[in-house]
Amino acid sequence: MSKRAIKIAAIPGDGIGPEVIDAGMEVLMAIAGRDGGFDIKSERFDWSSQRYLDKGDFMPEDGLATLRGFDAILFGSAGDPRVPDHITLWGLRLKICQTLDQYANVRPSRLLPGIEGPLKGVTSKELDWVIVRENSEGEYAGVGGRVHQGLPEEVGMDVAVFTRSGVERIQRFAFELARSRPRKLLTLVTKSNAQRHGMVFWDAVFEQIKGDYPDVTTDKMLVDAMTTRMVLKPESIDTVVATNLHADVLSDLAAALSGSLGIAPTGNLRPERDAPSMFEPIHGSAFDIMGKGIANPLGTFWSGAMLLEHEGEAAAAARLMRAIERVTGEGKYLPRDLGGKASTREVTDAVLEAIQQDNA
Ligand code: ATP
Repeated sequence: MSKRAIKIAAIPGDGIGPEVIDAGMEVLMAIAGRDGGFDIKSERFDWSSQRYLDKGDFMPEDGLATLRGFDAILFGSAGDPRVPDHITLWGLRLKICQTLDQYANVRPSRLLPGIEGPLKGVTSKELDWVIVRENSEGEYAGVGGRVHQGLPEEVGMDVAVFTRSGVERIQRFAFELARSRPRKLLTLVTKSNAQRHGMVFWDAVFEQIKGDYPDVTTDKMLVDAMTTRMVLKPESIDTVVATNLHADVLSDLAAALSGSLGIAPTGNLRPERDAPSMFEPIHGSAFDIMGKGIANPLGTFWSGAMLLEHEGEAAAAARLMRAIERVTGEGKYLPRDLGGKASTREVTDAVLEAIQQDNA
């Protein structure tokens, strides 16, 4: 019988994207070879700001249809100083997420072995969170406008859009995720004291559905208070669900508290699996270090582990995580943003070796 092949579309994008995605694909191929139970077939797409500058679009017209032929997408980063950020974001990343309706953005944060975060005395025992971000509507729905441009009465408006189906599906996804984790604890984050329509609606939907998950303990926080709790009481948090904007901000804080932006992964999931999900490191294009060979590839490797997990290859995902943790735990080949001196190549080689040596 022929082996199952996971078809991955690799989109390196801008800045350090190509460096970390090439390393990520190398590691994923090694994992598939080591595991033996599945193959990986991948194709690399040059969809980027450079392409936009050269050809006027970030991807070809049939780009999204092409992506539908893949099981998963490994994405690098989108952002180039020569192109306004909102053009890049809406032209590539958000276009993919929104068209494929990848509505659940999942961002794990954990202090890996050997990594010291900025919080004193805090280890992976205290800091092991998953933030679930609504990824299809809310504050980033793209609804709004500008009128009277350039005049004194100029107006700029962004309207947050919350639909019952959108709110309910992301909250139910978060309940299921919380239920699958040992602590079974879910925190709803909103701002329903100040935003008295959409956020009160979020609270109400949560109240309506929580009875379906009697085994999950719940609590509620305002987003401003949540930032304080993340810093002062990290051990009181497990799974968090919040809107597009709030979770965007909270997850960058979470990434910083767990060591570095360079290590944090994320998955833009299409839980129904009728379209590919997209996995990417949380960091941006980091043009300041582009081409120097020093980008931290661990966020991409961890994203690759999330990809494998989503594709049902839990054992391979666990092996990859063990390899990453072995490298961080040993501390010999840490990249610069984690206080070491290792290059992207050296970190990658160390993880490749740890994969080969893993005997579990
Ligand atoms: P963008 O505009 O695409 O969001 P950015 O450069 O403004 O990109 P980030 O790329 O998220 O923002 O990173 C901020 C800083 O963190 C970078 O300037 C870089 O020094 C550091 N950094 C980010 N990712 C990495 C990484 N993978 N390895 C090492 N350093 C990183």
